[in-house]
Amino acid sequence: MSTELTPISKGLAAFSRAGAQPFFLPLQFQVPLPNWIAVDNIPNIYHLVELKDTYHRYVLMLVTKGSWRILQVNLGAVTATMWEERPELRDRVGSEWSKVHFQRHRQERTRKFLRDAIVVLDQLMSAGGYTHLILAGPPAMTAQVRNHLPKHLQSQLTDTVTASSATRLSDVVEATLSAFIEAEEQESRTIVGNLVHQLRTGGLAVVGTGPSFRALCRGRVDVLVMSKEYDPGPGWSCDRCGSIGVESEVPDACPHCKAQEFGRFNTKERMVQKAEALDCTIEIVSQSDELSHLGGVGCLVSYHLPDEYL
Ligand SMILES: [Zn+2]
Repeated sequence: MSTELTPISKGLAAFSRAGAQPFFLPLQFQVPLPNWIAVDNIPNIYHLVELKDTYHRYVLMLVTKGSWRILQVNLGAVTATMWEERPELRDRVGSEWSKVHFQRHRQERTRKFLRDAIVVLDQLMSAGGYTHLILAGPPAMTAQVRNHLPKHLQSQLTDTVTASSATRLSDVVEATLSAFIEAEEQESRTIVGNLVHQLRTGGLAVVGTGPSFRALCRGRVDVLVMSKEYDPGPGWSCDRCGSIGVESEVPDACPHCKAQEFGRFNTKERMVQKAEALDCTIEIVSQSDELSHLGGVGCLVSYHLPDEYL
């Protein structure tokens, strides 16, 4: 930490293991992580999953009269920049052309300038699999870009942020980050709404620790929805037969095989790990009374689970 940490880093995660097969993985981020330490036989990834869900990735297009830039923002950091300066019209052009001609020429150049930018934007977004776009610049310019955006890009436009050519890039990124987080929270609310709707209509959803855990174990989860504050406490597993409990205290004897030796695990971590292994969407919800009332956790599942598992 004293030698390798870069000055711009605001968060650090380090996974470390000694012994016969030592392992060390440090990760730095330009967004903060909570202070947290865990000693476990599996890596604790919940906070990284929360980070990924909160900041994820988007494309930022910064457009001013003089230039445009397209930036990829991943986990709060600019990871790639493509930019093109707009060649300024030479001053002497004005004296050679009539004023009307000059203005028409300038409008046409602006249109071409924006069209070129949007072609690059479109290619970059589809090549990188991006689904969120944020525009930044003077309102007059961002409005023009919006008008020129093809439909599929308009639907991916998350927000527009006001900035001038004098605004520092880091400030623009900071401003778009908060816009993105707001949009992400809106997305979270929509997913909770969908979960509640599925529950009320007898659809494809389960809620609560036990049903969610079992749905994850069966590998039929599309979306794991979890509130930030969700804390189910530890789960246990029987050392002899492998029976697992996530809704009760460690029993005196295993209900299945009567053995008395148990291992404990972090239920929240285990659920996130299973969801990651299934490659399903994990939605971390920062504030939702609705989700809290449902036990803080739920899953949208891909088909109805037999009743005995619920
Ligand atoms: Zn047992």
